Amino acid sequence: TKFVYSFDEGNKDMRSLLGGKGANLAEMTNIGLPVPQGFTITTEACNDYYENDHKIRKEILDQIDEKLDQLEKEQGKTLGAEQNPLLVSVRSGAVFSMPGMMDTILNLGLNDTSIKGLIESTNNERFSYDSYRRFIQMFSDVAMEVPKYKFENVLERVKEEKGYKFDTELSIDDLKEIVVEFKNIYKKEVGEDFPQDPKKQLLLAIEAVFRSWNNPRAVVYRKLNDIANNLGTAVNIQSMVFGNMGTDSGTGVAFTRNPSTGENKLFGEYLINAQGEDVVAGIRTPQSIDTLKNDMPEMYNQFVEITQILEGHYKDMQDIEFTIEKGKLYILQTRNGKRTAKAAINVVVDLVNAGVIDKEEAIMRIEPGQLDQLLHPTFDQKALKSAELLAKGLPASPGAASGKVYFHADDVVEHAKLGEKTLLVRQETSPEDIEGMVSSEGILTARGGMTSHAAVVARGMGKCCVAGCGELRVDEAAKEIRVGDRVIKEGQFMSIDGSTGCVYLGSIEMTSVEVGGNFGVFMGWVDEIRDMKVRTNADNPRDAKKAIEFGAEGIGLCRTEHMFFEEERIPAVREMILADNVEDRVKALDKLLPFQREDFHGIFKAMDGRPCNIRLLDPPLHEFLPHEDSAIEELAKQMGIRPTELKKRVVDLDEFNPMLGHRGCRLAVTYPEICEMQARAIAQGAILAMKDGHKVVPEIMVPLIGTVNELKMLRPIIEEAVNSELEKAGVEMDYTVGTMIEIPRACVTADEIAEVADFFSFGTNDLTQMGFGYSRDDAGKFLGEYVDKGVLEKDPFQVLDQKGIGKLVEMAVKLGRGTNPELKLGICGEHGGEPSSVEFCYNQGLNYVSCSPFRVPIARLAVAQSTI
Ligand code: PEP
Ligand code: MG
Repeated sequence: TKFVYSFDEGNKDMRSLLGGKGANLAEMTNIGLPVPQGFTITTEACNDYYENDHKIRKEILDQIDEKLDQLEKEQGKTLGAEQNPLLVSVRSGAVFSMPGMMDTILNLGLNDTSIKGLIESTNNERFSYDSYRRFIQMFSDVAMEVPKYKFENVLERVKEEKGYKFDTELSIDDLKEIVVEFKNIYKKEVGEDFPQDPKKQLLLAIEAVFRSWNNPRAVVYRKLNDIANNLGTAVNIQSMVFGNMGTDSGTGVAFTRNPSTGENKLFGEYLINAQGEDVVAGIRTPQSIDTLKNDMPEMYNQFVEITQILEGHYKDMQDIEFTIEKGKLYILQTRNGKRTAKAAINVVVDLVNAGVIDKEEAIMRIEPGQLDQLLHPTFDQKALKSAELLAKGLPASPGAASGKVYFHADDVVEHAKLGEKTLLVRQETSPEDIEGMVSSEGILTARGGMTSHAAVVARGMGKCCVAGCGELRVDEAAKEIRVGDRVIKEGQFMSIDGSTGCVYLGSIEMTSVEVGGNFGVFMGWVDEIRDMKVRTNADNPRDAKKAIEFGAEGIGLCRTEHMFFEEERIPAVREMILADNVEDRVKALDKLLPFQREDFHGIFKAMDGRPCNIRLLDPPLHEFLPHEDSAIEELAKQMGIRPTELKKRVVDLDEFNPMLGHRGCRLAVTYPEICEMQARAIAQGAILAMKDGHKVVPEIMVPLIGTVNELKMLRPIIEEAVNSELEKAGVEMDYTVGTMIEIPRACVTADEIAEVADFFSFGTNDLTQMGFGYSRDDAGKFLGEYVDKGVLEKDPFQVLDQKGIGKLVEMAVKLGRGTNPELKLGICGEHGGEPSSVEFCYNQGLNYVSCSPFRVPIARLAVAQSTI
């Protein structure tokens, strides 16, 4: 097997073997761009390392040697040589880019001998020792896990002793002394001398990259992004070029377009006289790429030309790393740039308009879940005016967030678990902070630029982030921020706006977002292509209107019990529940009817002719009753009955397992008057809306059917009530009566049920609960562990379990349509807005999916992608 490829042997389609970085280095080599040469060790070699007891086999070692020889010949340099030594970088390169997750070693090949060669060939002793001390530190940290701070402490100490502010002030003698101290740290921590044999250095570095595939941060990142654990990483060995060779050298990172907004303008940063990680690590604040035009006009023009070649070649926005070594430009890496959802939409719309890609390609490129970012609230403009602006940093990742500030990732995780809204505040973030970043509402850093770790990772996650807010003096140890004469302590509220970079004191009210512009254009294409409907779950006119703005084509589920919970209605609801005879119950229901009529009237008006699926009452009754003695006493007083009597009734209604208890259509079977009242209210609401000039399309839905006989009993009650209302009003109205399919037995007997139902709507929440036998209310306690331990791949309440629960759905679809080919089918469980579940529904031939308003655009896009 071939385990090692020179850059000129690969191409961009070999990602799974060479990793993203390796494949792109090969591709850039092929199209003639100035790439420092090297070779890539394949992901298969990584997997082989793991299979072979964490050892690199001889066959692979031999291939590495061979490619190294070849590289040395081409470059006319030798690794570790006393004259004209070759130095290389060793970098990981997974199939899917994992920013900040894997580790890099630069300047490998330096030792006490080759440093002489480097001094000679560069004629720069200071630069050479600076490179050596960087290498020792990076190698120790990445390959041998010696903590970075041990080295940084030395550096800080020397700077303090000498009264320096910047690293660049360190003299040659300082650096020599630092190198000696660094080697001592290595010896003390690792227990042997710093390796002088460059091949040993290389081998240890390669092994470290392989190992880093399984470091905890990489594992967390993969889990978060659904990346398989068995892909492995490639290793890229590339000859070094130096951005820290003086003021005619530099290094930087640039995006071909703005990754926050998508604006078609080169966006990036660079540092003069600096090396690789200095830019992304956020240690020195870099300059905008625009100023390179003045600093080094020729380099700038060359670079711009290359960025255009690369974007044209990949037909997508690129994220490019470059280095200038003594006035010569090198490209070190290119990849499709991570971007916010807003930028993603703007880029694909631009590319379609420019004729680079077609609409289908544009649709396939946007990940449905990413739209979430666009649909999230921002600060309310009015509330913002009265907010106290504390400071301004860089608008690193858009969106807005308020939360209590914490200074350590662990603290964020801990407090977020308790349900607190939190902000992670750091000097600067590093990969160790990833879990805290996930748990927080937003991220605020005092240092680092637009391409710093915090900024890049936050944009990828869709988290809002303000970076490089230098006015804040963040003291992580004391857990406080000082700004001017203010002190903000851990646990206090702050707010950040990742679109403006503003940082505020306290928490600020939010408002919802606008949908228009390129988003509107893009969603227009989505709708052109999509051929399954998307409805919304909404219980009130406000949500219904919001959902229509987001493109909902009807209501797929209106849960009427939510209407019963309203404060002013509770007394009548309780009367209804506590009535011990039909007459009293009807009296209570008569009080509720006008409320319900108005609810439905409002919803029909808001939906204006779109289908409207209204479900009859579903919750366990005891949820409406008080349980504390004092509350029972008070209610008894209000109702003019004895507390003991009320208490007895409450106890009677209590259930051991309410989710499997007296709920759904079982309520209507035992208290048909409730069902009748609701049917009347629906009819009356619809009649009022018609009188206002609206078309109405009511679908009346019976929940929790387990046997067709339930529906056989209830359907006539509903029809009689509706028809008598229509007759009274002297109007005609088409309506349908159908059922939820959410009990396994209903799936299995769907052929019978379809004889009585005009439509089915899959309630996959209950179907998952009853199919797995996992209580919806309790499963959270163990499902996390099920997923962690690989017993389940995903939480089945979030992502439809296609194998099991999906089988039940499939069976019901077949049986139902077997009885009635015209049977209308939909889904209204949470899965209706989850992209992979939406695709499943599409493949089953459902007529629509229904989800919460904010997920409607996600579902529309998921349907369009299924259609393509
Ligand atoms: C369901 O069970 O999937 C459903 C939509 O109903 P609810 O969540 O109200 O039980
Ligand atoms: Mg249900």
